[in-house]
Amino acid sequence: MHDQLHEYVGVIHIHSTYSDGSRSIPDIASIAGEVDLDYLLMTDHNTLQAKRDGLEGWYGGVLVGVGYEINDENDLNHYLAFRLDKEVKNFHNPSEYVRQVQESGGFGFIAHPDEKRSAIKKYPPYPWTLWESDYFNGIEIWNQMSEWMEGLTNLNKYWRVFNPRKAIVSPQKETLKKWDEVNLDRKVVGIGGVDAHGHIYKLWGLFGITIFRYKVLFKTIRTHILTDRPLMESKDYKQDLNILYENLLNCRSFISNHYSGDARGFRFYAQNRKKRAQIGDKIEFDKRTHLHVNLPKTAITHLIRNGEKLVSQKGKNLIFEINKPGIYRVEVYYLNRPWIYSNHIRITD
Ligand SMILES: [Zn+2]
Ligand SMILES: [Zn+2]
Repeated sequence: MHDQLHEYVGVIHIHSTYSDGSRSIPDIASIAGEVDLDYLLMTDHNTLQAKRDGLEGWYGGVLVGVGYEINDENDLNHYLAFRLDKEVKNFHNPSEYVRQVQESGGFGFIAHPDEKRSAIKKYPPYPWTLWESDYFNGIEIWNQMSEWMEGLTNLNKYWRVFNPRKAIVSPQKETLKKWDEVNLDRKVVGIGGVDAHGHIYKLWGLFGITIFRYKVLFKTIRTHILTDRPLMESKDYKQDLNILYENLLNCRSFISNHYSGDARGFRFYAQNRKKRAQIGDKIEFDKRTHLHVNLPKTAITHLIRNGEKLVSQKGKNLIFEINKPGIYRVEVYYLNRPWIYSNHIRITD
């Protein structure tokens, strides 16, 4: 399909040596370049020092934005905050920091909201508890690290250590459910995160092994952002970051697991008698309204309306007839594995 959109593929939620990651930001950016990523959004724990040190900007073809990951005093309610020049003051109470991020002109995403891992005491879960807030802008609906840890048991840890990409299967159903629910009221973007640290995890005895190399993780959960304007039109990386941020906040994005294939070129849009609406947009319902899905390869697409699955269909270029308004999104499966999650298109009365 031909459209005017530019597509930028990147990875969100990464830790560097500014907190508990194992590599520097320039090193991580060069690894991202090796696997053809267009952008990285860094999120070190509780610090924006990297931004003050001037590490935001272009590294070859990779645009690096620096946000940070906030947590409360019980180490719960992890929040990925961006477009801030300094850290917010209140870091004890999540309802406060979520609001302060917004009031300081920033925005934020709930990180790994339904984390439940419990198999290994040393790595406890860090779930989100503050769903009533109106101030968060997005939800990390798929977190590579949480899912890997959650499925970990003493029986399968060897297999999982040596197959970090195969072990990633799907987002949690309850996270998707909450995401669909909050979207009935307002736009809340779904993003993918990897929580990359490049860590050496000592999972047994004396052996430590680097199971989460940045390069491996960068080939898992990616967030694709669609923009009307291309990046690098000016020499100003801040303008480029703003283009990415604005489109992400407008839900002009989808998530893919690169393990199942390169999802570049996926498109999901609605068409009525008068106009076309891309992912994240809204459009008025009329009797001709239908949804289009274009895929880079044949796969199975599930169409979801207001959180309920309507139909699934196999193919590369699909058209779904729509008979009522609602918030629509698609999930695409390749060889029975979840591959692509779109954000919602809002079809209004
Ligand atoms: Zn976290
Ligand atoms: Zn993290």
